[in-house]
Amino acid sequence: MTSVSASGQGAEYAATASEAYQAALRVIETVEPRVAEATRKELADQRDSLKLIASENYASPAVLLTMGTWFSDKYAEGTVGHRFYAACQNVDTVEALAAEHARELFGAPYAYAQPHSGIDANLVAYWAILATMVEAPGLAEMGAKHINDLSEADWEKLRAKLGNQRLLGMSLDTGGHLTHGFRPNISGKMFHQRQYGTDPTTGFIDYDAVAASAREFKPLVLVAGYSAYPRRVNFAKMREIADEVGATLMVDMAHFAGLVAGKVFTGDEDPVPHAHVVTTTTHKSLRGPRGGLVLATEEFAPAVDKGCPMVLGGPLSHVMAAKAVALAEARQPEFRTYAQAVADNAQALADGFVKRDAGLVTGGTDNHLVLLDVTSFGLTGRQAESALLDSGIVTNRNAIPADPNGAWYTSGIRFGSPALTTRGFGADEFDRVAELVVEVLSNTQPAAGPNGPSKAKYTIADGVADRVHAAASELLEANPLYPGLTL
Ligand code: PLP
Repeated sequence: MTSVSASGQGAEYAATASEAYQAALRVIETVEPRVAEATRKELADQRDSLKLIASENYASPAVLLTMGTWFSDKYAEGTVGHRFYAACQNVDTVEALAAEHARELFGAPYAYAQPHSGIDANLVAYWAILATMVEAPGLAEMGAKHINDLSEADWEKLRAKLGNQRLLGMSLDTGGHLTHGFRPNISGKMFHQRQYGTDPTTGFIDYDAVAASAREFKPLVLVAGYSAYPRRVNFAKMREIADEVGATLMVDMAHFAGLVAGKVFTGDEDPVPHAHVVTTTTHKSLRGPRGGLVLATEEFAPAVDKGCPMVLGGPLSHVMAAKAVALAEARQPEFRTYAQAVADNAQALADGFVKRDAGLVTGGTDNHLVLLDVTSFGLTGRQAESALLDSGIVTNRNAIPADPNGAWYTSGIRFGSPALTTRGFGADEFDRVAELVVEVLSNTQPAAGPNGPSKAKYTIADGVADRVHAAASELLEANPLYPGLTL
């Protein structure tokens, strides 16, 4: 297939980026050569591994270079045109651009570009939902106009009075994120939480079960979105459920924002027209810098705008500038080609596993990720992850629904197509990846530790890791990362 590489803009672009990086590394070398060396090595390592971590990608040189500037030196608490610091006119420019691109790209009424990461974006969203929903009658009685005016004692009274600080989110083992109400996480502490899961037989979300749970629990917030659910979500149905019980629908699209941006997920599968608040990271399938974004309806915008300094530290202006560049890239027609290829390639990978009899959670995929149940190979996730890494294949272990091996050792391996699709891999290459993965796992055996059976130790049959690594290198060399970029 045609390359949809992050640096696929031609030889001149690559040559200019090479000059920029060579110069930058020479400057760094004058102070701490070991950092320059590690930076060179990181590129070499990334170039030589099959990166299948579903939450990772390769941002373009334009995005990466934007992060290395003096915007990093600027404090800019507040919002565009309304800062707690002087001389923020240029930060205003880049933050406004990032927000404008985000609004246009996603068709959202409002966008907030300051969150430093996905978790921060979720915290801002939770804060905004609480702040907005409790601005209802009750505050005035306490002599306050806004939640920010409340004293600690008022907060106590308010929690008692509200009686609903409840959150219903997807459970971690069925694919939800820690911040969706997982009990040890702050989201599971600031809210009374309840979790919904997936149908034990099919592995799919059972919307009737979510609705029944919502009717019983009456949450303030219904959270949809996932880190490890290999299927699309019907956000129109989620909104119906939220409306029926008077909840706010928050969608965390951190993983699949690229598929929304690239119009692979439209209609009921596009969260933006259905949710009150949408959060995302910018560095996964969206292929931007590490960071977060919040999109919201007009109703929630004023509270989201208070993210910094209520929830977040000072905005990372250099990263907001890079978000503006990445979102501008995502508005180009090529990004739609990329996003469609991400979905097609995940499908090819899943088909490659299925035809080789490897067990998949839900039996397949229709988004960018595939969850392999490695119990079909007699392994734990930890053993499989390590054996694959020995063979040049970078993945991460992940719990599967009702995981018999718990969240540390796990029974699954999560694969994602965004990064290798950026390198230009197509369906044939992803089928070959499935073949290599199956070759490694079917030649890996659990091994005993000093005290008997171990969930971490393993052995790989002689020669397999080297053979697979060599085959992986062939695929990688045919689809180079940042072609033409030399250090
Ligand atoms: N939300 C979801 C659904 C995620 O998968 C992740 C990351 O793994 C996050 C939030 C957190 O993102 P970050 O690591 O940028 O804080």
